[in-house]
Amino acid sequence: MTTIKPEVISDPRVLSERLAALRREGKTIGLVPTMGALHEGHLSLVRQSKSLCDVTVVSIFVNPTQFAPGEDYEKYPRVLDADLARLDSVGGVEFVLAPAPKDMYPEGFDAHVHIGGVTRRLEGEFRPTHFDGVAVVVLKLFNISGADIAFFGQKDYQQAAVIQKMVRDLNLSVKIRVCPIVREEDGLAMSSRNKYLSPGERKEAPVLKRALDLARKMIADGATDPAQVKHEMRTLIGSAPSAAIDYISIADPDTLDELDRIDGKAVVLLAVKIGATRLIDNMIVP
Ligand code: AMP
Repeated sequence: MTTIKPEVISDPRVLSERLAALRREGKTIGLVPTMGALHEGHLSLVRQSKSLCDVTVVSIFVNPTQFAPGEDYEKYPRVLDADLARLDSVGGVEFVLAPAPKDMYPEGFDAHVHIGGVTRRLEGEFRPTHFDGVAVVVLKLFNISGADIAFFGQKDYQQAAVIQKMVRDLNLSVKIRVCPIVREEDGLAMSSRNKYLSPGERKEAPVLKRALDLARKMIADGATDPAQVKHEMRTLIGSAPSAAIDYISIADPDTLDELDRIDGKAVVLLAVKIGATRLIDNMIVP
């Protein structure tokens, strides 16, 4: 196993210079954007990057512009030392970009990136400013790193769709890889936010995955009416006392438009609050 330790850089300009030199040597760059509190889901992206690129950069930045007032920006876990230890255990990550907010958004910063279409529904409806914040920070990270390939998780399905649309619409040269969802043994999708769950809530949280499995089974058994599938999912999730549904959607996997009949590939997406913690999950069917 490679034992190189990542070089931790806070100034994006320094990272840009280091990576530009490596690109001139013909090295390919892989970028894994994260907000830290790294878990196996993040590490799966890191492993993909290591297998496909010469140099891997992990960014760890709790991006203020993608949080709305009243969301969990302040309490979001910030555990850089533990994150670096996890990356060490994987090995082979050359650079960690760990900027402060002022490094990414210096005094006078005033730029906006708005991607239309796929941002409108679902997360976009419940978090209207969220994807503008995601788009601006990810575009900056693409430009800072000059990455050849950037790695995202299917866990944030709509986010990956937004990034892919940004790449298409703005003719960015970076390639996007979307990697499968990594789950806990009981099915709960790994997420830095799972730490917020009380022990009782943690026991209820796998209901999201059980609802997705139910949808998959109903569709495999021939269900074509999304309303009927969503009704059964709602009933199942309703059996968890701490659960409150934000949305359940059965959508076209590319446009994320709601389907009124299931007759081909679809993506089932949901957002559910377990107590005060908002969780998202999804599954592509069949
Ligand atoms: P985050 O730190 O939550 O912003 O996530 C950083 C990246 O890791 C995003 O591309 C996520 O989609 C991805 N990711 C988060 N959780 C998982 C998971 N359980 N499986 C796969 N990828 C994930």
